[in-house]
Amino acid sequence: MVAPRDTGPAVKTDGPAKPEAPRPEERRRSPRAAAPATATEQRLTGIPVSPGIAIGAVYDTSEEVAETPRRAITEAEADAERTRLSEAAAQSRKQVAKLKGRLAVLPEEAQEELEPLLDAYILMLGNSRLLRGARKRIGEELLAAETAVHDEAEAIATTILAAKDDDKAGLNRRAGEVREIARRLIRNLTATPFRSLKGVPVGAILVAEELTPADAALLEPGRIAAVCTEEGGADGHTAIMLRALGIPAVIGCHGLTAAAKRGDQAVVDGAGGFIALHPTAETLAAAKEGLAAQAKERTRLGKLRRLPAETLDGQIVELQANLEIPAELPLLDQAGAQGIGLLRTEFLFMNRKDLPDEDAQVSAYRMIVDAMGHDPVTIRVLDWGGEKEIEALAESVPMAVGPNPALGLRGIRLLLKRPELLEEQFAAILRVSTQGNVRVLLPMVTIPAEVAEAREIYERVARRLRRRGESLPDKLPPLGAMIETPGAALAADAIALEADFFAIGTNDLAMYTLAVDRAEIDVAHLYDPLHPAVLRLMQFAIEAALRLRMPVSVCGEMAGNPRLVPLLLGLGLRSLSMNASAIPRVKQAVRALNIDDCARFARRVMEQSDPAQITELVEKFGTA
Ligand code: PEP
Ligand code: MG
Repeated sequence: MVAPRDTGPAVKTDGPAKPEAPRPEERRRSPRAAAPATATEQRLTGIPVSPGIAIGAVYDTSEEVAETPRRAITEAEADAERTRLSEAAAQSRKQVAKLKGRLAVLPEEAQEELEPLLDAYILMLGNSRLLRGARKRIGEELLAAETAVHDEAEAIATTILAAKDDDKAGLNRRAGEVREIARRLIRNLTATPFRSLKGVPVGAILVAEELTPADAALLEPGRIAAVCTEEGGADGHTAIMLRALGIPAVIGCHGLTAAAKRGDQAVVDGAGGFIALHPTAETLAAAKEGLAAQAKERTRLGKLRRLPAETLDGQIVELQANLEIPAELPLLDQAGAQGIGLLRTEFLFMNRKDLPDEDAQVSAYRMIVDAMGHDPVTIRVLDWGGEKEIEALAESVPMAVGPNPALGLRGIRLLLKRPELLEEQFAAILRVSTQGNVRVLLPMVTIPAEVAEAREIYERVARRLRRRGESLPDKLPPLGAMIETPGAALAADAIALEADFFAIGTNDLAMYTLAVDRAEIDVAHLYDPLHPAVLRLMQFAIEAALRLRMPVSVCGEMAGNPRLVPLLLGLGLRSLSMNASAIPRVKQAVRALNIDDCARFARRVMEQSDPAQITELVEKFGTA
């Protein structure tokens, strides 16, 4: 245990006396960190979200300084700024408490070292000098909360560093600690991506407490060898984006940020779900073998590119790609995708302070539609809400945040409440619709009236564009509905009368059916798209569409799992949309199947009511 020391002014709080906390720098100087040559391998496991092996140096993002543009406020805004500060402090306390709750998985020595540190952080996020000072600056100097926190932290750090004390390292540590807490507060206050990902060295293994979808949108797949995080769930949007970008990734690794430090050598196995810090020679050799096998497999799968996705008995299956950011476009061609089954347009709205106007949207859609030639491009209108943060909208639509964002003003609900957003997006999509094979998709539909109302707006926008002299196709592109809530699935027969096609979003469907947040590590073990409740809802929606001969596809993550192909085909699906890198393996599965076998198999699965038995049946398919 680290010997108690005077906390000094930096961590002075009004709370009860606490055992002294070790400083962040001490943590970095722990025997393991100080002597990597003798360090033993430390293997941390998490959720495998994106396959692939990587060997590289850790790039720990948690120490990056968030950029804080200085902002002044008016006197009338001071109260609101103080409220923002209190909210950010509460959020920061929650984050640190969560990290503390996860210490149990670490070796005892590490727990003893870290627990007091995190306790001290929690105290500093209470009624500390830092927060009192920042509050005062808001009122007296009329500064925005983040500017006030920055200035107060710098003032405290300067006082500490100027102290007459021979223990210069100790002073540095204390100043660093104040700055660390200030950084967390500022990150939470500005709600901008936690870190600048620009400086990440090529080939690095990115380690972070959490990566938001907006952060993931900034990743350059060629630069990053792998990603590991402490937080997140397997089908959260961050995980989806990492898979789509083909970046090996493991998330939900407890103890990761405490254990990994910048520059540490590591091996990540995205399929095995682990990161090995300071790998042994044996681990390294196995990873190198894995890399070679991976390259071979890629060549083998590449040969499937030009072959049709056709079952043994001649049924053609449409295999399309989901696209989250334009950087993935080259991967679609390599994978042999037959179009885009889901273009998530959120990327256009992320990481910016203002909304993209109609022309900006037109150029983004045009680039994608052009790249896809005659293949279909299904453009989903903005699906904001839940875990996706869009700062540009957060300010103008504060009510969307609400106490329970996943059940609030999400997807089509927000767009119908703010029809000008929908009109602008419809107009941009319609303007590129003569150039390719476009379809339009509505997210988070729960009642038929939402589709009807959206269609009225769609047609009104088309009339206005025609009056303006824009040339549009005689028949407007099909307008479809996502089926991603139990309500929509059970009302699918009614929604089918309003929509031109269905795309079943199994990620949200599983989340809402099972009441399990898809991005939350603590309930990840309950998130199961093979739960019979989810499958029955899917079946209901698929049959409603098939009765009307209406196109229906699955575009949730289930579609990209080759093991689930027999079940999905057996349920009647002939169109699947997935991350591009999953297409070759899914095609391989399709080409080995017979539709009658699939139908028989699906009947057996649908007779089961126990999720574990369904999983077992799926795993054993073809072996009995
Ligand atoms: C889904 O919910 O399954 C889906 C495809 O939409 P998203 O993952 O973007 O929420
Ligand atoms: Mg969804």
